[in-house]
Amino acid sequence: MKYQPKASHFIDGEYVEDTNGAPIDVIYPATGEVIARLHSATPEIVNKALNSAKQAQAEWAAMSGTERGRVLRRAADIMRDRNYELSVLETHDTGKPLQETLVADATSGADALEYFGGLTASLTGEHIPLGGGDFVYTIREALGVCVGIGAWNYPTQIACWKGAPALACGNTMVFKPSETTPLSALKVAEILIEAGAPKGVYNVVQGYGDVGALLVTDPRVAKVSLTGSVPTGRKVYAAAADGMKHVTMELGGKSPMIVFDDANIENAVSGAILGNFYSSGQVCSNGTRVFVQKGIKEAFLARLSERLATAKIGDPLDEDINFGPMVSENQMNIALSYVEKGKAEGARLVFGGARIAVDGFYMQPTVFADVTDNMTIAREEIFGPVMSVLDFDTEEEVLARANDTEFGLAAGVFTNDLTRAHRIVAGFEAGTCYINTYNLAPVEAPFGGSKMSGVGRENSKLAINHFSEMKTVYVSMNDVEAPY
Ligand code: NAD
Repeated sequence: MKYQPKASHFIDGEYVEDTNGAPIDVIYPATGEVIARLHSATPEIVNKALNSAKQAQAEWAAMSGTERGRVLRRAADIMRDRNYELSVLETHDTGKPLQETLVADATSGADALEYFGGLTASLTGEHIPLGGGDFVYTIREALGVCVGIGAWNYPTQIACWKGAPALACGNTMVFKPSETTPLSALKVAEILIEAGAPKGVYNVVQGYGDVGALLVTDPRVAKVSLTGSVPTGRKVYAAAADGMKHVTMELGGKSPMIVFDDANIENAVSGAILGNFYSSGQVCSNGTRVFVQKGIKEAFLARLSERLATAKIGDPLDEDINFGPMVSENQMNIALSYVEKGKAEGARLVFGGARIAVDGFYMQPTVFADVTDNMTIAREEIFGPVMSVLDFDTEEEVLARANDTEFGLAAGVFTNDLTRAHRIVAGFEAGTCYINTYNLAPVEAPFGGSKMSGVGRENSKLAINHFSEMKTVYVSMNDVEAPY
């Protein structure tokens, strides 16, 4: 098979197989062809991976920050050198156009490895003088073995966004990719070994939710970082709480994007396109509720339709193509079922709405107008290329409606009124906000959700606090006074 890896899992520096595990077929979404067959991890494989991570951790944490950082930065260089090859693999795993994977996947993973590799040598505690000569110093310590569990939309990026800060802090990781896109995390593990990471520092086990659950409940695990849906997040958070484990939860969203009538319409349309149709709409932070002020609504819709008609849909390996298939038949059918709900509940279909009749899991970029707040397509995460356009009159009204959701991952505003932009952003109940742009996630900036969209933050210096803890050491320079 075209992309068959040497084995399903990567543990203790090498590929490992156990064919007793349930089969996982890897399907190329553009054709439906099976490109690899892997096996879900058996309890023996999970045990082996956790043992390896546990054993490797002390040695890894004992290395100087400079040495650990060097490994991560070398890995970043290798990833960049192999960007083309890794991007072709990512396109096969996810169906995302090569035009995207060349700039948004291995490159984003490499950014995380480079950024956290650069921070590693400067991770320290502090000295706190207390008067009378006494003082406290704090030691920043690794948590231990961390588990990363990934979604299928950005497999390389997720493997690195979790692995890089974990390893920077001296933790080791067992990463479980999504069963839908299991291939690229194995490459991340290979590259880290090649870059000089000791065996066992970064392990990959494949599997369905049951394997994730086994990892989360294991007493050897100190921390769980999940990227996935809210229902999975609830289960994983609850299971981790039982063992009082640290968690980071990167979950779903139904984010608002507000376009005021003074906005630059061309930019707002670009933002709406990026925030709804990049990766065929399979992006957690997408601004899928687009609130457009009534004065410009028809002009906005007309320009949006004109530009969507120029999308190049087709073979994702052709670098000219900018809209590819969805990740799986199942995900495509879910998105198509929401199109039917939109129609049934009275939304006006202004663009797309249908499956594209070719092999593979393609559907058209789809836009509904006249969507109201209580329609299913305005309330539930679709995770596909389906945009809802809602009308509004006033700033006060739109902010309240934008926040009227259980989710709080991202939010955006397009306006040329500077003070209004900042007022709106201050009022947004969301972890990541955009003014006059949408969906950028540089590694330097914190990324994560409020409300049901998550706990903790990935990227930036903040991620360090989610992968380490402080030991406080009180030092007395005086005699000890006891009451009796
Ligand atoms: P999912 O929740 O179905 O699965 C996510 C991962 O969790 C998979 O690896 C799955 O095998 C695993 N899993 C499932 N049940 C589990 C359990 N009981 N215990 C442990 N692990 C378990 O999500 P998905 O369909 O793969 O991805 C789409 C979702 O991910 C969307 O909701 C999307 O918004 C979200 N997402 C969020 C972000 C973010 O950064 N906030 C990024 C990408 C995707």
